[in-house]
Amino acid sequence: MELKKYPLSEHALEGALIYIADAGDRDVLVCEGKAYFPRRINELDHETANTLRRLFPFTAPVRVLGNRRSVGVGDRLGIAGPGHIRVFEKYDALPVLAQQSIRELNLTNRTYEDVLDSSTFAVFRENFTRGFGADGDHLKKEEDIEYALSLGFTMLTLDLSEHIHADASGKYSQDIDALYEGKTFDVEGHKIAFETGELARVRGVYGEALDFACALYDKYIKSGEHDCDVEISIDETDTPTKPSEHYFVAAELKRRGVEVRTIAPRFIGEFQKGIDYIGDPAKFDEEMAVHAAIARHFGHKVSVHSGSDKFSVFPSVGAQTRQTYHVKTAGTNWLEAMRIVAEHEPALYREIHLFALESFDEARKYYHVTTDISAIPDVKTLADAQLPALFEDDNARQLIHITYGLILNAKNADGSDRFRTRLYAFWRAHAQEYAAALEKHIGKHLELLGCPKR
Ligand code: ZN
Repeated sequence: MELKKYPLSEHALEGALIYIADAGDRDVLVCEGKAYFPRRINELDHETANTLRRLFPFTAPVRVLGNRRSVGVGDRLGIAGPGHIRVFEKYDALPVLAQQSIRELNLTNRTYEDVLDSSTFAVFRENFTRGFGADGDHLKKEEDIEYALSLGFTMLTLDLSEHIHADASGKYSQDIDALYEGKTFDVEGHKIAFETGELARVRGVYGEALDFACALYDKYIKSGEHDCDVEISIDETDTPTKPSEHYFVAAELKRRGVEVRTIAPRFIGEFQKGIDYIGDPAKFDEEMAVHAAIARHFGHKVSVHSGSDKFSVFPSVGAQTRQTYHVKTAGTNWLEAMRIVAEHEPALYREIHLFALESFDEARKYYHVTTDISAIPDVKTLADAQLPALFEDDNARQLIHITYGLILNAKNADGSDRFRTRLYAFWRAHAQEYAAALEKHIGKHLELLGCPKR
């Protein structure tokens, strides 16, 4: 087997030289000299990753939300690490390289082991020593929290959505009337008022969610056994989070001893997957000003979810938070991966595009999008050279964006993978193009957020 060493991956350890090499159809870890690994040539599996994390602590995740600027870049395919790392070598923000929700794990047929190990191998290969986080994203169940913590994930995003009652019908365990009823709080000049039934309403909407968050925190985090940041997500609701709601949730968490690093409100307008903000950026800016002030007041950071491609509001996020934020992107690295398929392998792209159109109704069950598939140009009428431009079209972007699970899991009649094997072989052969595309695209996110260069 011919081995091509990744030059940055070369690390000396007492009596040994350890590096990652391209073995043609896959990468392997080579250990020359003292036997820190079972063999000279080792597969990039969970056991190898565990050993690497023990020998080289920079390849294990750390808490990054305490940094002023942090950005979550979920690596849906397990191959985006090197491209993402180039961005964070350049900009003064820390990345959460491993970040997946259980829904994404299921749709991509991956495990948290695999998600974390991909990041470990990427930072070792690129010698990225600044630190990265691992986020168990949108967790709702104890078993999922335990799964993420057992692997050493350094961030838990507790999703309270199933305990938020928009009709204010929830119960709350705490007697809090004396703390809020009829009061108005001043947050950097913004008035947050609990008058004429507002307290009863927010208690009914968020009370049960707060009890749920406190119970999880007390069970898993309070003891300090797990070195882990906590984010509270209240963004998956039908209506934008009001300032009084953000204030109430933050105040109650604080009063009850729950230390949160970030809170993700639902913002005004639409944050759909993979496309720019839909709504009035001026109105967004006004609301972001209040949310950012509330976050400063309580000492947490605002977290912006579905942050992929929200270019028209990034300057507002950066300015209103005074450069103190967490932004999560997820599927945009998948779209960039498909863009290079459209550029370099048009026949394969056409096949996938037609499959995505057939699968759209099924995929739509998992994601809220307003895609108009009838407005997407018919690929049969497009020349090969016109295919990449589909990735500038919002409807086409969303079509490909939300069908990823079905595309990756599609099978032929004989049970073999319809696209997955060909796609991964293609991406392997075009790894440089992919890294360059991510560097440019995710770099644009940080640039517009106003993130300083290092
Ligand atoms: Zn979210």
